[in-house]
Amino acid sequence: MDPIQFLGENLAPTSPTPMGLEIVGAEGCWLTTKDGNRYLDLVAGLAVNNVGHRHPKVIAAIKEQCDRFLHVIPYGEFVQAPQVEFAEHLTAALPDGLDSVYFVNSGTEAIEAAVKLAKRVTGRTKLIGCRKSYHGSTHGSLSLTDNEVKKYRSRPLLPEVHHIAFNDPSELLRIDANTAAVVVEPIQGDAGVRIPDPAWLRALRERCDATDALLVFDEVQTGFGRTGTFMAFEHSGVVPDILVLGKALGGGLPMGAFVASRDRMAMLASDPVLGHITTFGGHPLPCVAGMAALDILFEEDLASNAERMGQAFKALLVHPAIKEVRGKGLMLAVDLGDADLVQRVVKGCLERGVLGFWFLSCPTAFRISPPLTISQEEVETACGVIKEVLDGMS
Ligand code: PLP
Repeated sequence: MDPIQFLGENLAPTSPTPMGLEIVGAEGCWLTTKDGNRYLDLVAGLAVNNVGHRHPKVIAAIKEQCDRFLHVIPYGEFVQAPQVEFAEHLTAALPDGLDSVYFVNSGTEAIEAAVKLAKRVTGRTKLIGCRKSYHGSTHGSLSLTDNEVKKYRSRPLLPEVHHIAFNDPSELLRIDANTAAVVVEPIQGDAGVRIPDPAWLRALRERCDATDALLVFDEVQTGFGRTGTFMAFEHSGVVPDILVLGKALGGGLPMGAFVASRDRMAMLASDPVLGHITTFGGHPLPCVAGMAALDILFEEDLASNAERMGQAFKALLVHPAIKEVRGKGLMLAVDLGDADLVQRVVKGCLERGVLGFWFLSCPTAFRISPPLTISQEEVETACGVIKEVLDGMS
């Protein structure tokens, strides 16, 4: 469909086939469109709205902050209580060694800055990513991403970037004394939800320790309860040197962050000073929204609900056309083994009021990543529609 029909002539399109829903309201797991239809949201803005759309506590925090102040000066100059308090709350929920937070604007910016920090700390330049990874759309993140279709028009990208196989111990020896950072999603998202063996992650940690390379976990998609634990690295017990966050971090407002030890992070403040700078990083609105969302995540124990509802999806999504339902918590891929069928099923579900979405690097599956507040009844509704659509196609 023609994007101009939906977006007008002045808004740049990103694809020739936008979904074209015009949203006028959102609450919990539901979206309302201009034509009065309601959609059960199995996407959550791509793993952003973990506490549900417009949670009252998030909205209240945003409104209160609007009555105090908005942007005042770029990150790091003034004392802004929302930043200080959010950093305290966030690091209190993380292991020792992840105690200093730098707020930025997006997941991809957080990856860029994390890589700069790793180069600074190690004095090295070689970077390692994993095959089938996705880390964002700016040049550095795209260099680490392993999706040639997304990369080839943007070359040259960063030099000295190598990709090793995900979840394959035989390639770990490519991490060596020249390696600044190894950047890994602890569960790969856009590859179609790929869960590594915890033993591989432990071996990765050991190899990084042996070579003094920094281990960077990209938890932009997996963080904040999505996989049934606060952070996905808890499934293996492997703690990274630098943790990269985004998506759900800002409680529905745009925000990224990277977290490391205080001594390492302090290096960004000298030689040169302002080693990473960003005008809007740590803006007070995403800070208060993110802090409210963090509190809600723990108060309502949403990680446990993610685990339970993920199991419910797996139990209910049994159908001859479904080859596999992969994932942990509410980070799920429904694999149909057929890219064309996936397109038709996502469209068919949309026509029946259930919003699913595709993966960048796994055309044979569609994603289920709803708000973590989803109820058993909503899971049953969603699975009923998905199976009805599949029945109509076989
Ligand atoms: N890292 C991962 C694992 C992601 O899934 C994404 C986005 O989908 C990013 C990084 C980039 O985040 P952003 O789109 O906020 O730049």
